Amino acid sequence: MIAKTNAIVLRVSPYSRTSHVVTWMTEHAGRVSTTVKGAVRPKSAFLGQYDLGYTCELLFYERARNGLHVAKECTPLELRAGLRRDWRAFACASYLCDLVYHATLPTHEGQEGVYRLLGEVLDSLCHEGQDPLVLMHWFELRLLQGLGYAPHIERCVTCGVRLAEKRAGFDAAHGGAFCLDCLPQPVPEHVVPVGPDTQSVLRQWSNPNADGLLRNTVLNAKQLLALKDLTGTMLAYCLEMRPECRDVAVKTLRYREGVK
Ligand SMILES: [Zn+2]
Repeated sequence: MIAKTNAIVLRVSPYSRTSHVVTWMTEHAGRVSTTVKGAVRPKSAFLGQYDLGYTCELLFYERARNGLHVAKECTPLELRAGLRRDWRAFACASYLCDLVYHATLPTHEGQEGVYRLLGEVLDSLCHEGQDPLVLMHWFELRLLQGLGYAPHIERCVTCGVRLAEKRAGFDAAHGGAFCLDCLPQPVPEHVVPVGPDTQSVLRQWSNPNADGLLRNTVLNAKQLLALKDLTGTMLAYCLEMRPECRDVAVKTLRYREGVK
């Protein structure tokens, strides 16, 4: 049976001397991996039709063998040339595609939200003036929310006191925050501080109608660090993501800022 869907390229890897395996985040069929036979032959119809971060119209034979389907045709719809002009944007896109690859399940329907979110962040990365580090943490948070792991920061998980304007500690293991009075002592390693200014960014980004506000988000170094720690600990606890790839992405994106 042939399936047709729009899909974003998450990963391209060699399969044989002339073929590729391409993994896609599809619009309606979740994460799908296809072989692309003869992909690198000089006269292949697939040459130049897909690359990391492209959105394509994909036709494939639904023949899961070892989890691999077979690509029939592929037409690029959105090349996102801006990613190829800015190495920081590309480094960020590369990490985010890898994150989606590891955070989603193969051929799992009902992940339209992840497809839309990824397309949106890749489009934003193509616009000059967008800070890739801000986009990276925004995407991580929205992805966690989309997968059912929204951080709860309104009230202390123990005593219920409202945390607005108060310093607090976020615990990814509980998915919520503690007020300073209820914070376990000694403070566990995986509890990260969330001050009032970080809470306000989280509230803004948690608003489902906040997409338009994203472009106006300006974060100071302290907020960026707090968000890095918060989303990092959530990715490790909720999705069991290993931190190495993310650490490289953060280091690469900070390089130009002169931040060590
Ligand atoms: Zn409390």
